[in-house]
Amino acid sequence: MDLVSRSSGVELRKKGRVAMPLYSVKMRASADDQHISGAEKIVPPHQIAPCAARLIQRAMSHAKGEPDQLHIKIEKLEEAGILFLDALPVRTLEVDNCRSGLEQVREFLRRLQISRVEEIIALLPKTYAMRGAMLLDVDTLERLEPDWERGVRATCMDAQRAGLPAGAEKNHFAEAIVLATKVAHAPNIIGELCISDDPEYVTGYAASLTTGYLRITKLKPLGSEQGGRIFLYRGDQSQVDRTISFLQEQPVIVRNVPVLAPPQPLCGKLAFLDEALERIQNNHLYRRMTPLQSAQSATVCCQGRELLMLASNHYLDMACVDEVKSYAAQVLGQYGAGSGGSRLTTGNTELHELLEQRIAEFKGTEAALVFNSGYVANLAAISSLMGRGDVIFSDELNHASIIDGCRLSRAEVVVYRHNDMDDLERKLWENPCGRGMVVSDGVFSMDGDILNLPRFVELANRYGLLSMVDEAHSTGVIGAAGRGIVEYYGGSCKPDILMGTLSKSVGSEGGFVCGSRTLIDYLVNRARGFIFSTALSPVTIAASIKALEYIEEHPERVRALQENVKFFCGCLKQQGVNACSETAIVPILIGDEQTAMEVSQALFDAGFFLSAIRYPTVEKGGARLRAALMATHTREQLQAAADAIAGVLREKMLL
Ligand code: PLP
Repeated sequence: MDLVSRSSGVELRKKGRVAMPLYSVKMRASADDQHISGAEKIVPPHQIAPCAARLIQRAMSHAKGEPDQLHIKIEKLEEAGILFLDALPVRTLEVDNCRSGLEQVREFLRRLQISRVEEIIALLPKTYAMRGAMLLDVDTLERLEPDWERGVRATCMDAQRAGLPAGAEKNHFAEAIVLATKVAHAPNIIGELCISDDPEYVTGYAASLTTGYLRITKLKPLGSEQGGRIFLYRGDQSQVDRTISFLQEQPVIVRNVPVLAPPQPLCGKLAFLDEALERIQNNHLYRRMTPLQSAQSATVCCQGRELLMLASNHYLDMACVDEVKSYAAQVLGQYGAGSGGSRLTTGNTELHELLEQRIAEFKGTEAALVFNSGYVANLAAISSLMGRGDVIFSDELNHASIIDGCRLSRAEVVVYRHNDMDDLERKLWENPCGRGMVVSDGVFSMDGDILNLPRFVELANRYGLLSMVDEAHSTGVIGAAGRGIVEYYGGSCKPDILMGTLSKSVGSEGGFVCGSRTLIDYLVNRARGFIFSTALSPVTIAASIKALEYIEEHPERVRALQENVKFFCGCLKQQGVNACSETAIVPILIGDEQTAMEVSQALFDAGFFLSAIRYPTVEKGGARLRAALMATHTREQLQAAADAIAGVLREKMLL
């Protein structure tokens, strides 16, 4: 066998000489049909179970996110014999930046007597999305892998380890050496180039039998998923099948894999935070706070300038209504600043109970319960109502607080397509359950569209499940009197649970859950976010009471908001901007995160406060401006804003 003659460190363990059977344990994880992570270990029988458990754990905590499919494949190794190889010798090339890293790659290719160096480097990006590697004839630059989308994968290999449990924490370095050693021994392969697709790992390598394993410390920016791999092939192309079969099927165990010393901390225990922030910054996802120097109303003062506020959730501008402010001031004088305890100890006042009564009346339910924020209301309600063994059906665009509530509940979560009641029905049918819940935003917070409530409630009732709707952005906004989604649909279909916030149209703070008396009594006794947190201050509660009263007495304010939405969307359309909404939220899609930030900054410079919304609030590549209107915006202000938005979009060639 010519393999043996190519390296002195090769030994073939023949059939019959293997002391203990060995098994290959492979893990492959994906989400939305996109590969997330994969790994393989070769272990004796008693290590199969712990190894599989560790691989599962690793897949579930991958930096690229949680998988929706996870495959574990366990195979007894073929009788053909296991090839034992000595690990390639390793040399680390410290470089300051990616450019210097690529210079090392060029040098490596030249040493292999390759002349078409630049063309090969230019081919690396073509391999980014592939699960395997490009198999490239280095002289003709022909791609030899049979499936260009998938590439060729080197599998069936592992490091020989002493004592260490197989499948322990991910060790990029060890895994890369094992793979590179196998690849370097494959017939007709003269070398390999590799950049990891792990966003947290910027080190890449170039490897061959003659140069060994050259570890190049920087080949891409931190945070980038742009990895790639090329196997460099030279020689008779009729031998390609032999190469591929070696790469995919020949079991290989690599001996003497060096252990990498743990990296020195950059600046102590908190260095990982710097690294995480650098990654966020590289992806244009860094967030910073902008301090206002005024109350939040249709115009605000920020950085010493007056700006038109088009990003606030105070859709009805209630925080600045005189009656609200003076009642809150009066209550401050009477009750003082804080509440002093949780609702079940000393933090409950008559005002808290009055507010709950008013919310229940406004929403047309038997009872209501106030929480410290909308976020806590969702977390506490969902996690106390649902538990292990239950199933929650959740819209894919639901707010983060619903998602977190579902996670905290430990129920199984089935995500259905956005506002797609046919998909929900299909999933209800496919996932029968004893107890469960369907949950959705009423008005979706980043898209501004409205839930199909009649079908939602009908499906929940037909399948005997609780229905819950988050009214954070529908309360005060839709329905003739601003009572929300039930009023919007004529009042005949009502979910079991209405959740909402006091922080948006009501202009104060807090969240609430409305429903039957029994539901509320249950939450008082079981909802940890209610029980174990200090109650909202009476001042905040007073502001909510007065604001609700005001909204009920002034339906014209709700109408003004609804008219403003129609007017603003009309202005944008006239300018050729694709924007359409029935609610206070008018999304203007940009796509790229960096561009969205630039557009938002240009508008800020021109006097308009309009936030760019980016991943993870919306999907990657779905960055947008989220215009949020107020009842008190004037027509002139809205026209000026639409003109400015269109102007900046044109400047950026987005229109
Ligand atoms: N639900 C939705 C749909 C939201 O948009 C928000 C706020 O952004 C919340 C819940 C949380 O409400 P709060 O800000 O009062 O915590």
